[in-house]
Amino acid sequence: MSTDEASEPSPYHVELRDLTMAFGDHRVIDGLDCSFRRGKITVVLGGSGSGKSTLLRLIAGLVVPTAGSVLVDGQDVPRLGRAALAETRRHLAMMFQGGALLDSLSVYENLALPLRERRGTREAAIADAAHEGLEAVGLEGIDDLLPGALSGGMVKRVALARALIGHPQLLLCDEPFSGLDPLSTKLIEALLVRVNRELGVTMVVVSHHVPSTLRMADEIVLLLPRRVVRGTPAELLAGDDREVHRFLDETVDDTSDVLAHAAEYESERAVGGGAP
Ligand code: ADP
Ligand code: MG
Repeated sequence: MSTDEASEPSPYHVELRDLTMAFGDHRVIDGLDCSFRRGKITVVLGGSGSGKSTLLRLIAGLVVPTAGSVLVDGQDVPRLGRAALAETRRHLAMMFQGGALLDSLSVYENLALPLRERRGTREAAIADAAHEGLEAVGLEGIDDLLPGALSGGMVKRVALARALIGHPQLLLCDEPFSGLDPLSTKLIEALLVRVNRELGVTMVVVSHHVPSTLRMADEIVLLLPRRVVRGTPAELLAGDDREVHRFLDETVDDTSDVLAHAAEYESERAVGGGAP
């Protein structure tokens, strides 16, 4: 690589090269090559058990692959030493499927936790960050509630606020819409789109929720049983790949509605964000 190339940031924030992950003799991911664009929302779609959560855990460096590379900002995550891995992890955050809030801690303490782990952050700064985070997800004033008192949609919003509190450049979201009613789904979707558009955070969102995916994704990576298909929502819908259509159409009643929403987001983006 020439010096010029080295100083030019790659358009890809995350690159997976010939990635394989096996549990025993079960190959969940088998020789996957896939890249995720910087500053964009890529949604990884796939059936249950297709390896979506495993993929996020690999990117976050929570598990070590059987073979292949996971490059985050050009750093090969599985081969990093402890200090370098900690530094890479400082710039990424994971929104776990169930929220992963600690049940015995208040909402405020759950939000404060990632900052308390970074020694030296003063309580006033923690309080400001926690309150800013809650406000951003429309949940001011719930500091003292325990996670058990929150609805499913509120848990996801607190989890999103917590994921964002350290100002990550890369946000990994595991099934952010699972278990939510349609209204909460649209709210989380709008919040994620806003975070992406306003802060430029790269997002890898794992989902099997097709309508949301088609509305919010800049790009889709579809994990099919024997192959991986990628493209923009419009490209996948316009293509004539029957297996892709079987996956997408199963859960979409009205494709024109979905395309209209995609166009809405596109125009919001053109005027600089503005999702509710
Ligand atoms: P998805 O999120 O797409 O539903 P997962 O990534 O959770 O899929 O899991 C894919 C497959 O890998 C499943 O068959 C699951 O049982 C298996 N798997 C995931 N994690 C482990 C593990 N730690 N040990 C053994 N098998 C696992
Ligand atoms: Mg999963």
